[in-house]
Amino acid sequence: MAERQITGTILTDSAIHELQTIFRGEVVGPNDAGYDAARRVWNGMIDRRPALIVRCAGVADVVNGVDFARANKLQVAVRGGGHNVAGNAVADGSIVIDLSRMKGMRVDPATQTARAEAGLTWGEFGHETRVFGLAANEGLVDTTGIAGYTLGGGIGWLTRKYGLACDDLLSADVVTADGRFLTASAAENADLFWGLQGGGGNFGIVTSFEYRLHPVSQVLAGNVLHQAPRAKEVLRFFRDYTATAPDELTSTAVFLSAPSDPSIPMHLHGTPMICISVCYVGDMEKGQQVVQPLRRFGSPLADLIAPVPYSALQNRVDAGLQNYWKAEYLGGLSDDAIDAVIAHVEGMPSPLSQVEIRHLQGAMGRVGADETAFGHRDAPYIINIIGMWANPHMNEAGIRWASDMWDAMRPFSTGGTYVNFMSEDGPDRVRAAYGANYARLVTLKNKYDPTNFFHFNQNIKPSVK
Ligand SMILES: Cc1cc2nc3c(=O)[nH]c(=O)nc-3n(C[C@H](O)[C@H](O)[C@H](O)COP(=O)(O)OP(=O)(O)OC[C@H]3O[C@@H](n4cnc5c(N)ncnc54)[C@H](O)[C@@H]3O)c2cc1C
Repeated sequence: MAERQITGTILTDSAIHELQTIFRGEVVGPNDAGYDAARRVWNGMIDRRPALIVRCAGVADVVNGVDFARANKLQVAVRGGGHNVAGNAVADGSIVIDLSRMKGMRVDPATQTARAEAGLTWGEFGHETRVFGLAANEGLVDTTGIAGYTLGGGIGWLTRKYGLACDDLLSADVVTADGRFLTASAAENADLFWGLQGGGGNFGIVTSFEYRLHPVSQVLAGNVLHQAPRAKEVLRFFRDYTATAPDELTSTAVFLSAPSDPSIPMHLHGTPMICISVCYVGDMEKGQQVVQPLRRFGSPLADLIAPVPYSALQNRVDAGLQNYWKAEYLGGLSDDAIDAVIAHVEGMPSPLSQVEIRHLQGAMGRVGADETAFGHRDAPYIINIIGMWANPHMNEAGIRWASDMWDAMRPFSTGGTYVNFMSEDGPDRVRAAYGANYARLVTLKNKYDPTNFFHFNQNIKPSVK
Protein backbone atom coordinates (compact mmCIF):
# COMPACT_ATOMS: atom_id res chain seq x y z
CA MET A 1 0.00 0.00 0.00
CA ALA A 2 1.37 3.47 -0.91
CA GLU A 3 2.21 5.67 2.04
CA ARG A 4 3.34 9.22 2.53
CA GLN A 5 5.18 10.49 5.61
CA ILE A 6 3.70 13.77 6.66
CA THR A 7 4.69 15.69 9.77
CA GLY A 8 4.66 12.78 12.17
CA THR A 9 1.81 10.86 10.57
CA ILE A 10 1.48 8.22 7.88
CA LEU A 11 -1.21 9.15 5.39
CA THR A 12 -2.11 6.13 3.30
CA ASP A 13 -3.59 6.26 -0.16
CA SER A 14 -6.37 4.00 1.06
CA ALA A 15 -7.26 6.56 3.75
CA ILE A 16 -7.38 9.26 1.07
CA HIS A 17 -9.49 7.02 -1.13
CA GLU A 18 -11.87 6.43 1.77
CA LEU A 19 -12.18 10.18 2.24
CA GLN A 20 -12.91 10.62 -1.47
CA THR A 21 -15.78 8.16 -1.30
CA ILE A 22 -17.55 10.16 1.41
CA PHE A 23 -16.67 13.59 0.00
CA ARG A 24 -19.04 15.58 -2.22
CA GLY A 25 -16.43 18.21 -3.08
CA GLU A 26 -12.95 17.67 -4.43
CA VAL A 27 -9.91 16.11 -2.77
CA VAL A 28 -6.69 17.49 -4.28
CA GLY A 29 -3.28 15.95 -3.60
CA PRO A 30 0.25 16.95 -4.68
CA ASN A 31 0.08 14.75 -7.79
CA ASP A 32 -3.21 16.16 -9.03
CA ALA A 33 -3.37 18.62 -11.90
CA GLY A 34 -5.10 21.36 -9.89
CA TYR A 35 -2.74 21.18 -6.90
CA ASP A 36 -0.64 24.27 -7.64
CA ALA A 37 -3.66 26.45 -8.32
CA ALA A 38 -5.42 25.13 -5.21
CA ARG A 39 -2.50 25.88 -2.86
CA ARG A 40 -1.96 29.42 -4.17
CA VAL A 41 -3.18 32.27 -1.97
CA TRP A 42 -3.47 36.00 -2.61
CA ASN A 43 -0.02 36.86 -1.24
CA GLY A 44 2.55 35.68 -3.81
CA MET A 45 5.18 35.50 -1.07
CA ILE A 46 3.45 32.41 0.33
CA ASP A 47 4.58 29.17 -1.32
CA ARG A 48 3.47 26.25 0.85
CA ARG A 49 2.84 22.62 0.02
CA PRO A 50 -0.01 21.02 1.94
CA ALA A 51 -0.42 17.24 2.01
CA LEU A 52 -4.04 17.47 0.91
CA ILE A 53 -6.52 20.15 -0.02
CA VAL A 54 -10.17 19.32 0.50
CA ARG A 55 -12.49 21.64 -1.37
CA CYS A 56 -15.69 21.32 0.55
CA ALA A 57 -19.10 21.39 -1.13
CA GLY A 58 -21.05 21.74 2.11
CA VAL A 59 -21.16 21.27 5.87
CA ALA A 60 -20.91 17.46 5.64
CA ASP A 61 -17.59 17.77 3.82
CA VAL A 62 -16.28 20.13 6.50
CA VAL A 63 -17.25 17.66 9.25
CA ASN A 64 -15.69 14.78 7.30
CA GLY A 65 -12.55 16.83 6.67
CA VAL A 66 -12.17 17.65 10.37
CA ASP A 67 -12.78 14.02 11.39
CA PHE A 68 -10.29 12.80 8.78
CA ALA A 69 -7.64 15.25 9.98
CA ARG A 70 -8.11 14.17 13.58
CA ALA A 71 -8.05 10.44 12.74
CA ASN A 72 -4.89 10.83 10.66
CA LYS A 73 -3.18 13.29 13.03
CA LEU A 74 -2.94 15.92 10.31
CA GLN A 75 -2.43 19.59 11.01
CA VAL A 76 -5.33 21.68 9.76
CA ALA A 77 -5.33 24.93 7.82
CA VAL A 78 -8.64 26.58 6.95
CA ARG A 79 -9.20 28.62 3.82
CA GLY A 80 -11.93 31.17 3.18
CA GLY A 81 -11.04 33.77 0.56
CA GLY A 82 -7.28 33.09 0.88
CA HIS A 83 -6.54 36.83 1.26
CA ASN A 84 -4.77 36.69 4.57
CA VAL A 85 -1.33 38.26 4.11
CA ALA A 86 0.25 35.96 6.70
CA GLY A 87 -0.84 33.06 4.46
CA ASN A 88 -2.58 31.19 7.26
CA ALA A 89 -5.01 29.60 4.81
CA VAL A 90 -2.34 27.14 3.71
CA ALA A 91 0.46 25.29 5.55
CA ASP A 92 3.20 22.83 4.62
CA GLY A 93 2.26 19.20 5.20
CA SER A 94 -1.25 20.08 6.41
CA ILE A 95 -4.73 19.29 5.26
CA VAL A 96 -6.32 22.50 3.96
CA ILE A 97 -10.04 22.59 4.61
CA ASP A 98 -10.97 24.89 1.77
CA LEU A 99 -14.37 26.55 1.89
CA SER A 100 -13.91 28.70 -1.19
CA ARG A 101 -16.48 26.73 -3.20
CA MET A 102 -19.20 27.18 -0.60
CA LYS A 103 -20.93 30.21 -2.05
CA GLY A 104 -24.60 29.81 -1.22
CA MET A 105 -26.38 32.97 -0.11
CA ARG A 106 -29.90 34.05 0.77
CA VAL A 107 -30.92 37.65 1.35
CA ASP A 108 -34.13 38.32 3.25
CA PRO A 109 -35.17 41.84 2.25
CA ALA A 110 -38.04 41.84 4.77
CA THR A 111 -35.81 41.38 7.81
CA GLN A 112 -32.77 43.00 6.13
CA THR A 113 -30.58 40.02 6.89
CA ALA A 114 -28.50 37.59 4.86
CA ARG A 115 -27.29 34.05 5.37
CA ALA A 116 -23.99 33.57 3.55
CA GLU A 117 -21.71 30.56 3.16
CA ALA A 118 -18.10 31.00 4.19
CA GLY A 119 -16.53 30.74 0.72
CA LEU A 120 -18.04 33.96 -0.56
CA THR A 121 -15.95 37.00 -1.35
CA TRP A 122 -17.19 40.51 -0.66
CA GLY A 123 -17.68 41.11 -4.38
CA GLU A 124 -19.99 38.10 -4.59
CA PHE A 125 -21.78 38.98 -1.35
CA GLY A 126 -22.40 42.56 -2.50
CA HIS A 127 -23.70 41.33 -5.84
CA GLU A 128 -26.53 39.57 -3.99
CA THR A 129 -27.43 42.35 -1.55
CA ARG A 130 -27.25 45.29 -3.98
CA VAL A 131 -30.35 44.26 -5.90
CA PHE A 132 -32.32 44.86 -2.70
CA GLY A 133 -30.63 48.20 -1.95
CA LEU A 134 -28.94 46.57 1.06
CA ALA A 135 -25.32 46.29 2.10
CA ALA A 136 -22.96 44.94 4.74
CA ASN A 137 -19.75 46.53 5.95
CA GLU A 138 -17.82 45.00 3.09
CA GLY A 139 -14.07 44.89 2.57
CA LEU A 140 -12.53 47.50 0.29
CA VAL A 141 -11.39 44.87 -2.21
CA ASP A 142 -13.88 42.60 -3.96
CA THR A 143 -11.85 39.37 -3.73
CA THR A 144 -11.41 39.48 0.06
CA GLY A 145 -13.16 36.55 1.73
CA ILE A 146 -16.09 37.32 4.01
CA ALA A 147 -14.93 34.61 6.46
CA GLY A 148 -11.47 35.70 7.61
CA TYR A 149 -12.50 39.35 7.32
CA THR A 150 -15.56 38.98 9.57
CA LEU A 151 -13.91 36.64 12.07
CA GLY A 152 -11.05 39.11 12.55
CA GLY A 153 -13.37 42.15 12.84
CA GLY A 154 -13.84 43.75 9.43
CA ILE A 155 -13.08 47.45 8.96
CA GLY A 156 -14.80 48.87 5.86
CA TRP A 157 -16.41 52.00 4.49
CA LEU A 158 -19.43 51.71 6.81
CA THR A 159 -17.44 51.23 10.02
CA ARG A 160 -18.11 54.63 11.56
CA LYS A 161 -21.79 54.53 10.66
CA TYR A 162 -22.64 50.91 11.45
CA GLY A 163 -19.64 49.35 13.24
CA LEU A 164 -17.44 46.43 12.25
CA ALA A 165 -18.56 43.52 10.07
CA CYS A 166 -18.42 41.31 13.18
CA ASP A 167 -20.83 43.71 14.92
CA ASP A 168 -23.39 42.87 12.22
CA LEU A 169 -23.02 39.16 12.81
CA LEU A 170 -26.28 37.65 14.08
CA SER A 171 -25.28 34.00 14.12
CA ALA A 172 -22.80 31.54 12.69
CA ASP A 173 -22.78 27.80 12.01
CA VAL A 174 -19.56 26.25 13.27
CA VAL A 175 -17.81 22.89 13.05
CA THR A 176 -15.62 22.45 16.11
CA ALA A 177 -12.33 20.56 16.49
CA ASP A 178 -14.17 17.45 17.71
CA GLY A 179 -16.41 17.49 14.63
CA ARG A 180 -19.52 18.84 16.33
CA PHE A 181 -21.85 21.21 14.46
CA LEU A 182 -22.98 24.17 16.56
CA THR A 183 -24.88 27.35 15.95
CA ALA A 184 -23.57 30.36 17.80
CA SER A 185 -25.60 33.49 18.43
CA ALA A 186 -26.42 35.82 21.31
CA ALA A 187 -29.02 33.25 22.42
CA GLU A 188 -27.20 29.98 21.73
CA ASN A 189 -23.57 29.14 22.60
CA ALA A 190 -23.20 32.82 23.42
CA ASP A 191 -19.62 32.42 24.66
CA LEU A 192 -18.56 31.00 21.31
CA PHE A 193 -20.46 33.75 19.48
CA TRP A 194 -18.55 36.36 21.49
CA GLY A 195 -15.28 34.71 20.41
CA LEU A 196 -16.23 34.63 16.75
CA GLN A 197 -16.73 38.41 16.80
CA GLY A 198 -13.07 39.24 16.31
CA GLY A 199 -11.33 36.14 17.68
CA GLY A 200 -10.47 34.80 14.20
CA GLY A 201 -10.50 31.15 13.20
CA ASN A 202 -9.40 29.93 16.63
CA PHE A 203 -12.57 28.19 17.77
CA GLY A 204 -13.81 26.21 14.80
CA ILE A 205 -14.65 26.35 11.13
CA VAL A 206 -17.53 28.66 10.35
CA THR A 207 -19.58 27.23 7.52
CA SER A 208 -22.05 30.11 7.21
CA PHE A 209 -22.66 33.55 8.65
CA GLU A 210 -25.92 35.39 9.27
CA TYR A 211 -25.58 39.17 8.92
CA ARG A 212 -27.67 42.22 9.65
CA LEU A 213 -27.77 44.40 6.51
CA HIS A 214 -28.23 48.13 6.06
CA PRO A 215 -30.16 50.14 3.49
CA VAL A 216 -27.23 51.57 1.50
CA SER A 217 -27.18 52.07 -2.25
CA GLN A 218 -25.87 55.54 -3.26
CA VAL A 219 -23.02 57.07 -1.28
CA LEU A 220 -20.94 60.22 -1.69
CA ALA A 221 -17.44 58.96 -2.13
CA GLY A 222 -14.08 59.25 -3.84
CA ASN A 223 -10.58 60.64 -3.53
CA VAL A 224 -9.00 64.05 -3.22
CA LEU A 225 -5.41 63.92 -4.42
CA HIS A 226 -2.43 66.07 -3.50
CA GLN A 227 1.22 65.76 -4.46
CA ALA A 228 3.38 64.03 -1.84
CA PRO A 229 5.50 67.09 -0.95
CA ARG A 230 2.33 68.56 0.58
CA ALA A 231 1.82 65.53 2.82
CA LYS A 232 2.57 67.33 6.09
CA GLU A 233 -0.15 69.95 5.68
CA VAL A 234 -2.56 67.38 4.20
CA LEU A 235 -2.15 65.04 7.19
CA ARG A 236 -2.52 67.91 9.64
CA PHE A 237 -5.71 68.89 7.85
CA PHE A 238 -6.86 65.23 7.92
CA ARG A 239 -6.31 65.14 11.70
CA ASP A 240 -8.37 68.27 12.29
CA TYR A 241 -11.05 67.31 9.75
CA THR A 242 -11.58 63.84 11.20
CA ALA A 243 -11.73 65.24 14.76
CA THR A 244 -15.21 66.62 14.06
CA ALA A 245 -16.39 64.25 11.30
CA PRO A 246 -19.90 62.84 11.71
CA ASP A 247 -20.41 59.07 11.87
CA GLU A 248 -21.73 59.13 8.31
CA LEU A 249 -18.23 59.91 7.08
CA THR A 250 -15.53 57.24 7.03
CA SER A 251 -12.21 58.43 5.61
CA THR A 252 -8.65 57.30 5.01
CA ALA A 253 -5.44 59.10 4.15
CA VAL A 254 -3.35 57.08 1.73
CA PHE A 255 0.18 57.48 0.41
CA LEU A 256 0.34 55.93 -3.03
CA SER A 257 1.58 56.41 -6.57
CA ALA A 258 -0.95 58.31 -8.68
CA PRO A 259 -3.15 55.97 -10.68
CA SER A 260 -3.56 56.36 -14.45
CA ASP A 261 -6.85 58.17 -14.06
CA PRO A 262 -7.95 60.53 -16.85
CA SER A 263 -8.76 63.20 -14.25
CA ILE A 264 -5.10 63.32 -13.16
CA PRO A 265 -2.68 65.07 -15.53
CA MET A 266 -0.77 62.42 -17.52
CA HIS A 267 2.65 63.63 -16.44
CA LEU A 268 1.73 62.89 -12.81
CA HIS A 269 0.72 59.26 -13.37
CA GLY A 270 2.93 57.09 -11.18
CA THR A 271 4.26 59.98 -9.08
CA PRO A 272 3.98 59.87 -5.26
CA MET A 273 0.71 61.28 -3.94
CA ILE A 274 -1.24 61.57 -0.78
CA CYS A 275 -4.95 61.17 -1.15
CA ILE A 276 -7.85 61.42 1.23
CA SER A 277 -10.54 58.88 0.38
CA VAL A 278 -14.02 59.27 1.80
CA CYS A 279 -17.35 57.55 1.94
CA TYR A 280 -20.36 59.48 3.21
CA VAL A 281 -23.45 57.36 3.90
CA GLY A 282 -26.58 59.41 4.37
CA ASP A 283 -28.40 62.43 3.03
CA MET A 284 -26.51 63.60 -0.07
CA GLU A 285 -27.02 67.34 0.49
CA LYS A 286 -25.72 67.07 4.03
CA GLY A 287 -22.85 64.97 2.70
CA GLN A 288 -21.90 67.66 0.18
CA GLN A 289 -21.59 70.14 3.07
CA VAL A 290 -19.50 67.70 5.09
CA VAL A 291 -16.98 67.11 2.28
CA GLN A 292 -16.81 70.80 1.29
CA PRO A 293 -13.82 71.67 3.54
CA LEU A 294 -11.92 68.70 2.16
CA ARG A 295 -12.52 69.79 -1.42
CA ARG A 296 -11.52 73.39 -0.66
CA PHE A 297 -8.37 72.56 1.23
CA GLY A 298 -5.09 73.30 -0.51
CA SER A 299 -6.13 73.27 -4.19
CA PRO A 300 -6.06 69.52 -4.78
CA LEU A 301 -4.65 68.07 -7.98
CA ALA A 302 -7.83 66.11 -8.49
CA ASP A 303 -11.17 65.98 -6.73
CA LEU A 304 -12.93 62.74 -7.60
CA ILE A 305 -15.66 62.85 -4.93
CA ALA A 306 -19.09 62.19 -6.42
CA PRO A 307 -22.34 60.35 -5.71
CA VAL A 308 -21.68 56.74 -6.68
CA PRO A 309 -23.25 53.36 -6.06
CA TYR A 310 -21.81 51.74 -2.92
CA SER A 311 -20.58 48.88 -5.11
CA ALA A 312 -18.23 51.29 -6.94
CA LEU A 313 -16.12 51.57 -3.80
CA GLN A 314 -14.82 48.06 -4.11
CA ASN A 315 -11.67 47.76 -6.12
CA ARG A 316 -9.47 44.94 -7.31
CA VAL A 317 -5.84 44.54 -6.27
CA ASP A 318 -3.71 42.09 -8.25
CA ALA A 319 -3.13 38.74 -6.61
CA GLY A 320 0.28 37.05 -6.69
CA LEU A 321 2.44 40.07 -5.79
CA GLN A 322 4.86 39.96 -2.86
CA ASN A 323 3.19 41.34 0.27
CA TYR A 324 4.39 42.16 3.75
CA TRP A 325 2.09 44.27 5.93
CA LYS A 326 2.47 45.78 9.40
CA ALA A 327 -0.24 47.64 11.28
CA GLU A 328 -0.68 49.53 14.52
CA TYR A 329 -3.47 51.51 16.14
CA LEU A 330 -2.46 55.12 16.66
CA GLY A 331 -3.55 57.11 19.68
CA GLY A 332 -3.60 60.29 17.59
CA LEU A 333 -1.85 62.10 14.79
CA SER A 334 0.50 64.46 16.60
CA ASP A 335 2.89 66.58 14.54
CA ASP A 336 5.66 64.17 15.55
CA ALA A 337 3.64 61.16 14.38
CA ILE A 338 3.00 62.88 11.06
CA ASP A 339 6.70 63.65 10.66
CA ALA A 340 7.55 59.99 11.37
CA VAL A 341 5.08 58.79 8.73
CA ILE A 342 6.43 61.15 6.11
CA ALA A 343 10.08 60.33 6.85
CA HIS A 344 9.46 56.63 6.20
CA VAL A 345 6.99 56.87 3.34
CA GLU A 346 9.79 58.38 1.30
CA GLY A 347 11.62 55.03 1.41
CA MET A 348 8.73 52.98 0.00
CA PRO A 349 10.25 50.01 -1.81
CA SER A 350 7.95 50.06 -4.83
CA PRO A 351 5.20 52.18 -6.40
CA LEU A 352 2.85 49.29 -5.59
CA SER A 353 3.31 49.84 -1.85
CA GLN A 354 0.96 52.07 0.11
CA VAL A 355 0.60 53.44 3.61
CA GLU A 356 -2.94 54.06 4.76
CA ILE A 357 -4.19 55.78 7.89
CA ARG A 358 -7.83 54.88 8.47
CA HIS A 359 -10.06 56.99 10.68
CA LEU A 360 -11.97 54.76 13.11
CA GLN A 361 -14.27 55.24 16.14
CA GLY A 362 -17.89 56.28 15.51
CA ALA A 363 -20.24 53.28 15.81
CA MET A 364 -17.30 50.88 16.07
CA GLY A 365 -16.05 52.74 19.14
CA ARG A 366 -19.44 52.76 20.88
CA VAL A 367 -19.60 48.98 21.24
CA GLY A 368 -18.28 48.10 24.69
CA ALA A 369 -14.65 46.92 24.84
CA ASP A 370 -15.68 43.51 26.25
CA GLU A 371 -18.92 43.05 24.30
CA THR A 372 -17.07 41.20 21.54
CA ALA A 373 -13.64 39.57 21.28
CA PHE A 374 -12.38 42.36 19.02
CA GLY A 375 -9.78 44.42 20.87
CA HIS A 376 -9.07 48.17 20.75
CA ARG A 377 -12.29 49.87 19.78
CA ASP A 378 -11.23 53.25 21.12
CA ALA A 379 -8.27 54.02 18.84
CA PRO A 380 -8.94 57.00 16.55
CA TYR A 381 -6.73 55.70 13.73
CA ILE A 382 -5.02 52.62 12.42
CA ILE A 383 -1.92 52.80 10.24
CA ASN A 384 -1.52 49.97 7.75
CA ILE A 385 1.93 49.74 6.18
CA ILE A 386 1.29 47.84 2.96
CA GLY A 387 4.58 46.57 1.62
CA MET A 388 3.85 45.33 -1.90
CA TRP A 389 6.21 44.70 -4.80
CA ALA A 390 6.48 42.38 -7.77
CA ASN A 391 10.02 41.03 -7.64
CA PRO A 392 10.83 38.43 -4.95
CA HIS A 393 14.42 39.71 -4.98
CA MET A 394 13.11 42.80 -3.22
CA ASN A 395 11.69 40.81 -0.30
CA GLU A 396 14.50 41.52 2.11
CA ALA A 397 14.56 45.26 1.42
CA GLY A 398 10.76 45.50 1.39
CA ILE A 399 10.32 43.66 4.68
CA ARG A 400 13.02 45.84 6.23
CA TRP A 401 11.25 49.00 5.06
CA ALA A 402 7.88 47.94 6.50
CA SER A 403 9.47 46.77 9.76
CA ASP A 404 11.53 49.96 10.17
CA MET A 405 8.51 52.14 9.52
CA TRP A 406 6.46 50.12 11.99
CA ASP A 407 9.23 50.52 14.62
CA ALA A 408 9.19 54.26 14.03
CA MET A 409 5.42 54.39 14.56
CA ARG A 410 5.42 52.36 17.77
CA PRO A 411 5.91 55.41 20.04
CA PHE A 412 2.57 56.76 18.74
CA SER A 413 0.70 53.46 19.11
CA THR A 414 -2.06 52.64 21.58
CA GLY A 415 -0.10 49.38 22.01
CA GLY A 416 -2.53 47.36 19.92
CA THR A 417 -2.80 46.03 16.42
CA TYR A 418 -5.44 44.44 14.18
CA VAL A 419 -5.20 40.71 13.43
CA ASN A 420 -6.45 41.04 9.85
CA PHE A 421 -3.63 43.37 8.82
CA MET A 422 -0.85 41.35 10.45
CA SER A 423 1.83 39.31 8.77
CA GLU A 424 3.44 36.59 10.90
CA ASP A 425 4.14 38.84 13.86
CA GLY A 426 4.24 36.26 16.67
CA PRO A 427 2.37 35.57 19.93
CA ASP A 428 3.17 38.89 21.61
CA ARG A 429 1.47 40.86 18.86
CA VAL A 430 -1.56 38.54 18.94
CA ARG A 431 -1.83 39.23 22.66
CA ALA A 432 -1.49 42.92 21.95
CA ALA A 433 -4.22 42.70 19.31
CA TYR A 434 -6.73 41.46 21.87
CA GLY A 435 -5.57 43.47 24.87
CA ALA A 436 -7.82 42.96 27.89
CA ASN A 437 -9.93 40.36 26.04
CA TYR A 438 -7.04 37.94 25.62
CA ALA A 439 -7.49 36.07 28.92
CA ARG A 440 -11.17 35.40 28.16
CA LEU A 441 -10.22 34.18 24.68
CA VAL A 442 -7.80 31.67 26.24
CA THR A 443 -10.62 30.37 28.47
CA LEU A 444 -12.79 29.98 25.38
CA LYS A 445 -9.97 28.23 23.50
CA ASN A 446 -9.59 25.82 26.43
CA LYS A 447 -13.28 24.99 26.12
CA TYR A 448 -13.69 24.71 22.35
CA ASP A 449 -10.21 23.79 21.09
CA PRO A 450 -8.06 22.58 24.02
CA THR A 451 -5.55 20.77 21.74
CA ASN A 452 -5.05 23.83 19.49
CA PHE A 453 -6.29 21.83 16.51
CA PHE A 454 -6.90 25.18 14.75
CA HIS A 455 -3.53 26.88 15.06
CA PHE A 456 -2.72 28.22 11.59
CA ASN A 457 -4.21 31.60 12.44
CA GLN A 458 -3.34 34.56 14.65
CA ASN A 459 -3.20 31.99 17.36
CA ILE A 460 -4.71 32.14 20.81
CA LYS A 461 -2.92 29.33 22.63
CA PRO A 462 -4.93 27.19 25.05
CA SER A 463 -3.50 27.02 28.56
CA VAL A 464 -4.64 23.42 29.19
CA LYS A 465 -2.47 20.50 28.12
C1 LIG B 1 -6.18 43.28 -0.82
C2 LIG B 1 -6.69 43.18 0.58
C3 LIG B 1 -7.60 44.11 1.05
C4 LIG B 1 -8.07 44.03 2.35
N1 LIG B 1 -8.96 44.97 2.80
C5 LIG B 1 -9.41 44.91 4.07
C6 LIG B 1 -10.32 45.88 4.56
O1 LIG B 1 -10.76 46.77 3.85
N2 LIG B 1 -10.70 45.80 5.86
C7 LIG B 1 -10.27 44.79 6.68
O2 LIG B 1 -10.68 44.76 7.83
N3 LIG B 1 -9.43 43.85 6.23
C8 LIG B 1 -8.97 43.90 4.96
N4 LIG B 1 -8.08 42.97 4.51
C9 LIG B 1 -7.60 41.95 5.44
C10 LIG B 1 -8.56 40.77 5.45
O3 LIG B 1 -9.61 41.05 6.34
C11 LIG B 1 -7.84 39.52 5.93
O4 LIG B 1 -6.81 39.22 5.02
C12 LIG B 1 -8.77 38.34 6.08
O5 LIG B 1 -8.07 37.33 6.77
C13 LIG B 1 -9.25 37.83 4.75
O6 LIG B 1 -10.16 36.78 4.89
P1 LIG B 1 -10.12 35.54 3.89
O7 LIG B 1 -11.25 34.66 4.22
O8 LIG B 1 -9.98 36.03 2.50
O9 LIG B 1 -8.72 34.94 4.32
P2 LIG B 1 -8.10 33.49 4.47
O10 LIG B 1 -6.66 33.69 4.13
O11 LIG B 1 -8.83 32.44 3.74
O12 LIG B 1 -8.26 33.24 6.01
C14 LIG B 1 -7.79 34.12 6.98
C15 LIG B 1 -7.78 33.47 8.36
O13 LIG B 1 -9.11 33.15 8.73
C16 LIG B 1 -9.26 31.75 8.91
N5 LIG B 1 -10.51 31.34 8.27
C17 LIG B 1 -10.87 31.57 7.00
N6 LIG B 1 -12.09 31.09 6.77
C18 LIG B 1 -12.52 30.55 7.94
C19 LIG B 1 -13.70 29.90 8.34
N7 LIG B 1 -14.71 29.73 7.50
N8 LIG B 1 -13.80 29.47 9.61
C20 LIG B 1 -12.77 29.64 10.48
N9 LIG B 1 -11.62 30.25 10.15
C21 LIG B 1 -11.50 30.70 8.89
C22 LIG B 1 -8.06 31.14 8.23
O14 LIG B 1 -7.68 29.92 8.77
C23 LIG B 1 -7.00 32.19 8.43
O15 LIG B 1 -6.41 32.05 9.69
C24 LIG B 1 -7.62 43.01 3.20
C25 LIG B 1 -6.69 42.06 2.73
C26 LIG B 1 -6.22 42.15 1.44
C27 LIG B 1 -5.21 41.17 0.97
